[in-house]
Amino acid sequence: MYRALSTGRQKGTPTLRRLLSALVIAEHDTQQVTPVTLSAITAAKRLGGDVSCLVAGTDCTKVAEELAKIQGVSKLFISQHESYKGFLPEELTPLVLEAQKKFNFTHICAGASAFGKSLLPRIAAKLDVAPVSDVIEIKSPDTFVRAIYAGNALCTVKCEESVKIFSIRGTSFEAAPASGGSASSDTVAPSAPVGLSEWLHQSLTKSDRPELTSAKVVVSGGRGLKSGDNFKLLYDLADQLNAAVGASRAAVDAGFVPNDMQVGQTGKIVAPEVYIAVGISGAIQHLAGMKDSKTIVAINKDPEAPIFQVADYGLVADLFKAVPEMTEIMKRK
Ligand SMILES: Cc1cc2nc3c(=O)[nH]c(=O)nc-3n(C[C@H](O)[C@H](O)[C@H](O)COP(=O)(O)OP(=O)(O)OC[C@H]3O[C@@H](n4cnc5c(N)ncnc54)[C@H](O)[C@@H]3O)c2cc1C
Repeated sequence: MYRALSTGRQKGTPTLRRLLSALVIAEHDTQQVTPVTLSAITAAKRLGGDVSCLVAGTDCTKVAEELAKIQGVSKLFISQHESYKGFLPEELTPLVLEAQKKFNFTHICAGASAFGKSLLPRIAAKLDVAPVSDVIEIKSPDTFVRAIYAGNALCTVKCEESVKIFSIRGTSFEAAPASGGSASSDTVAPSAPVGLSEWLHQSLTKSDRPELTSAKVVVSGGRGLKSGDNFKLLYDLADQLNAAVGASRAAVDAGFVPNDMQVGQTGKIVAPEVYIAVGISGAIQHLAGMKDSKTIVAINKDPEAPIFQVADYGLVADLFKAVPEMTEIMKRK
């Protein structure tokens, strides 16, 4: 269980911190560790104790090499087996439970990505503890801050569970340095395959543009674009800015663009250096996914649009005129 605290900063004693040990479950594609895993390592380091990483998959060689060099990771547990194909939570959970039984970690964490969101609740249920999701700040080893009500309120929770299981929001913790570490590694025997589900295949959208959640610049379009074809205006601008392209849910629901482009409460959470919202009204559910962006630019023909309340720069204009003009100016640079 966890209790909501209104205020209060609690730091663990040095003795307590020495006893702390966190396990970060690494998410990867057999080639590379995901950026949110690097953020999870940073969050785990903030707890003040030892940080270990568990990497499981069909082939972990490359990823294990990468993880061993990450600053702050002291131990690496590697488990390889065909049953880890597709990183199914049903197959990974017994492995994590085995590791927990053996090493008795005080904390288990991962990124609040689709991977972490499907795996951590299952582990928590099996250990009969309540997980804390989408943590944005670590106040102390048992006290975490998370956003509630679509990011409109921050809740400080004290977790009283014997093992604290939490997911972290990638945009709230910087990536752990990729070099300077020298973790020792151990091979862990894979758990017996569960066979509850089977991974068939995945089809990934191929794009030359930066990935939405890690791009430094994001150009997003809303219902104001009026059609999928008109998103070309945004792609042209994005090409000049080396930006990723996102969208509001209204644009996704209208079928203008696929739903992996959705930014917001029920989409992706982004916090780029620059976020350019084009023809987006600024509903709270959209703001929940982008309001931590360093600089927000809004282009909207309605001067009363709520997006202007969070924008650092606002342009009241018809997007069909303003966006091609911006693209032309950028081309001349
Ligand atoms: C449970 C729940 C979860 C949700 N999750 C999400 C989410 O994850 N992400 C999300 O985005 N939404 C989400 N929504 C939907 C959200 O409430 C809004 O409906 C949605 O964000 C609106 O999208 P929009 O701003 O593109 O459309 P609209 O609200 O229709 O706004 C379109 C804007 O375009 C402007 N415009 C029109 N024509 C032009 C033009 N020619 N030039 C310039 N500006 C123009 C208009 O002035 C208007 O401000 C969620 C809703 C619910 C209930």
